[in-house]
Amino acid sequence: MLRNRNTKIIATLGPSSSSPSMIHSLFMAGADIFRLNFSHGTHNEQRKKVYHIRQYEKRVGRPIAILGDLQGPKFRIGKFSNSHVILKNGQRFNLDLNNLPGNHNRVFLPHPEIFKSVKPQTNILIDDGKIQLSVNKVSSNQIETEVINGGKISNHKGVNIPKVFIKTSSLTEKDKKDLELCLDLSLDYIALSFIQKPQDIIMLKKIVGKDTAIMSKFEKPLAIERMDEILKHSDAAMVARGDLGVEMPPEEVPIIQKKIVQKCRDFGKPVVVATQMLDSMINSPSPTRAEASDVASAVFDGADCLMLSAETAAGNFPVFSVEIMDRIIRNVENDISYRQLLNSKPVKLEETTSDAISAAASQVVNIVAAKAIFTYTRSGKTAIRAARERPSVPIIGLSPERLTSRQLALVWGVHTIHALEPKSFSGMIENACELSKKEKIVKKGDYVVITAGAPIGITGSTNNLRIAQIN
Ligand code: PGA
Ligand code: MN
Repeated sequence: MLRNRNTKIIATLGPSSSSPSMIHSLFMAGADIFRLNFSHGTHNEQRKKVYHIRQYEKRVGRPIAILGDLQGPKFRIGKFSNSHVILKNGQRFNLDLNNLPGNHNRVFLPHPEIFKSVKPQTNILIDDGKIQLSVNKVSSNQIETEVINGGKISNHKGVNIPKVFIKTSSLTEKDKKDLELCLDLSLDYIALSFIQKPQDIIMLKKIVGKDTAIMSKFEKPLAIERMDEILKHSDAAMVARGDLGVEMPPEEVPIIQKKIVQKCRDFGKPVVVATQMLDSMINSPSPTRAEASDVASAVFDGADCLMLSAETAAGNFPVFSVEIMDRIIRNVENDISYRQLLNSKPVKLEETTSDAISAAASQVVNIVAAKAIFTYTRSGKTAIRAARERPSVPIIGLSPERLTSRQLALVWGVHTIHALEPKSFSGMIENACELSKKEKIVKKGDYVVITAGAPIGITGSTNNLRIAQIN
């Protein structure tokens, strides 16, 4: 079953969507990747989700990717004696290291590293930026602030400190335990939140090894400033608009989204646009017009993948949300303006045989009106290179590596198949022709384009392109 769309969909699993029948319905509606959000849920619950997905994957016979999303150093305040207080603009309010319930003068902030990093005039944001505090004075155990934007502040609300480098480990104790579980469950992608510097990714990569792919979540201005270096060490990226929109003025988020997406395409790294894409569908069976436009605009930007968070994890209409997203994506992709826009942003090619072959394949399919590009790929890199070109036909990514075939589920335009590698190039051609018929993408006389490396079985050796006619 070939999905007739290029841009992929991630569905986050949560209380609304973790049963085997929901996993089936979400997949049928169009979810290509399932996300486990480690900010919520117990290890036992996460294990069960993975078990159900893998059982389903066997049944459906299509590789499905699972993304484990680590919470990272997310800061939170402590609690209040009466669960909340109201802060007034202009009043003083202290954050300190006393583990006592808070009141209208102070609250516990259980992160000593923040006290070492902030300075007078630093902005501290609480509850997704609704409350804004400006620092007056700092000591090792107390931050004195003035309330710039007041309002209701309640137990355990999140704290964001934009543009300030916080000397903290990028993996908390909780992340380390969650990571252990992700590795034990052989998840395909691990995403890390609140990264500040390339070293955060390099360190994670050292722990997880080369097989698990790492996704960098861009949600801090500091990470945006070092985008190139961070991307160099990442396997994939996420435009994490939820926290990004707190850490940066909202008017900057659309431009940053476009920049990250284009940069990822240049670098050949799959990129996900995330958060609030169909937010109103948490409670409503249809999206707002603005949300439909937002989904469309991420597709026009050329993202590999769009993500649903609370919509599928905790909402009332998880399957509808995926269906609507699928429909919006297909509508955009079938419009002529989409192709024109993609073609207007050519990628910078590298001097490698693999880029040369991929670029050639994209052109060849147009010249002979071929119906698909088949790439035989061990590491997945050749399929990603081919996808970077945004060809006008499906890319069939065939890999003998189960992990690779699952990871390719995230990549624009790649229909991923896990299959043994034929022993010869002529075997590959026969195999591609057979599969084209089986997947019903060709009829007699049609052309397909095949790329592969010789000698077979060596990663990074793509140097062959063949045009085959179906008989
Ligand atoms: P989160 O990340 O859902 O883990 O916060 C995504 C975002 O911030 O947009
Ligand atoms: Mn986030």
